[in-house]
Amino acid sequence: MIQVKVFYFNELRVCCYVVWDETKECVIIDPGCFSDNELSRLVKFVNDNDLKPVKLLLTHGHFDHVMGLADVAHQWNLTTYVHPDDIGQIKRATRYCSMFGWKIKEPDTERIDLQDNQEVTFGNSKLEVIHTPGHTQGGVCFYNEEQNILFSGDTLFAGSIGRTDHPGGNYDQLMKSIRTKIMILPENTTVYPGHGLETTIGQEIKSNPFLQ
Ligand SMILES: [Zn+2]
Repeated sequence: MIQVKVFYFNELRVCCYVVWDETKECVIIDPGCFSDNELSRLVKFVNDNDLKPVKLLLTHGHFDHVMGLADVAHQWNLTTYVHPDDIGQIKRATRYCSMFGWKIKEPDTERIDLQDNQEVTFGNSKLEVIHTPGHTQGGVCFYNEEQNILFSGDTLFAGSIGRTDHPGGNYDQLMKSIRTKIMILPENTTVYPGHGLETTIGQEIKSNPFLQ
């Protein structure tokens, strides 16, 4: 049985998810922690719940989602799983943050490329990788079929969709990704987005203004 804890990290309130099952193994999705305090809260939660982080997953490489990548990877000696088309975004993130006076460490940890349809496992559980380019070219969602859980990154939000006006963004491509790969999931699928509150596919079909 998969359980999910969300943290809202950094000034852009990125959703960082800790996802675990009965084995206590967990994955950490989008380590956006910026301050020492945010990292401490994440570490404390993992320790208090006796969790064992085994993988670090990125929905995409935007700076707000990777601010704590180096620290979190080092903390538990984790390999980073990311779609290869977003490696450039991660490299850009360090430079982008320094423009705003935010110092983030350059991630130097081991990396594994994600591909569409690939399965990422932890404990007794698995997440399917769904490549959803449009917000960024290497954007992915992670889907657990058994419990109908989707981590949608910045592809789909409650009542909205990801921006496409940053480098690598493409509106038509994003809409195609959402319509052909995400909205086909069961309506009772719980969606955990990269920002904001959770929703369901059924709710978004009904009321998301971008999908009417
Ligand atoms: Zn983004």
